[in-house]
Amino acid sequence: QRPAVHAIHFFRADMNRLARERLALEIALREALAQPEGLQLHYQPQVRLASGVLRGVEVLARWRHPQYGDIQPARFIALAEECGLIDRLGLHMLDGACRQLADWRRRGLAVPAVAVNLSAHHFRDPALPAQIARLLLQHGLQPADLIIEATESVMMDSDGGTLDILHALHRAGLRIAMDDFGTGYSSLGDLCRLPISELKLDRRFVADLAGDDRALALTDTVIRMGESLGLSVLAEGVETEAQRRRLQALGCQLAQGFLFARPMAAAEFEQWLGQRAE
Ligand code: C2E
Ligand code: CA
Ligand code: CA
Ligand code: CA
Repeated sequence: QRPAVHAIHFFRADMNRLARERLALEIALREALAQPEGLQLHYQPQVRLASGVLRGVEVLARWRHPQYGDIQPARFIALAEECGLIDRLGLHMLDGACRQLADWRRRGLAVPAVAVNLSAHHFRDPALPAQIARLLLQHGLQPADLIIEATESVMMDSDGGTLDILHALHRAGLRIAMDDFGTGYSSLGDLCRLPISELKLDRRFVADLAGDDRALALTDTVIRMGESLGLSVLAEGVETEAQRRRLQALGCQLAQGFLFARPMAAAEFEQWLGQRAE
């Protein structure tokens, strides 16, 4: 009897601690989202494989809490989704990305586009296309300046409402990229039906390039399939020169990864851009 009671006691104490921590983090995230600089935006270059030319930047959320330190995006994105803050987070990122791009353009820095990640919840909000149109107008940008990233699983779990919103965004001239492609279960039919213009090949495929012939054949097939559907294919998580060479040999046009640059704060990205221009 005693050990069991003991275990329950510890279990409760642990649950309480976890619940308290989660609540504290939720309150902190709420506060961060109420301030314009509460969450930081980092920018990771996306380049053309053949020429190395910058195609755009993916905008990634960063949260440094004064007490808790750096919190992983996977953690605070999940938290935001659970406690109803993801809409605000998405708007925070969209607004920040548009503001930054407009600023770069004003200062003559050639950044062709920004890619912003949105979660499932956004694509159920019929107000999203109008919100994005308003942001573009406000910052003097064109629809082609913005790429919206949605994961393959978000698109596959989607109902009619989500599909309508994706179509509305596409009609408005925005590009839509299917993120983490290859981790879900979309069929050729799905890819034809969805209004997407880009596949972001999940980094698992890129990591597999060093493996056997079958892994290589699979990546080859996915790249060819994307191209035959008229989609651009971007390889994620490119870390080595060998991966870069293989992807280029397979005909992949776009890439992103630590080999080119890590996600950087705006000032650091500007330096990176300046050094390349020299
Ligand atoms: P993701 O959209 O697939 O973003 C790419 C992730 O891969 C980023 O992690 C990036 O730092 C990392 N990465 C880039 N290049 C390499 C590489 O060469 N090797 C490796 N191993 N990793 C690389 P991060 O920033 O930790 O973000 C994780 C995930 O959190 C993102 O995955 C995305 O799903 C989510 N996320 C980040 N920012 C946002 C946001 O603003 N909104 C939403 N909804 N989700 C976000
Ligand atoms: Ca992404
Ligand atoms: Ca991804
Ligand atoms: Ca991911």
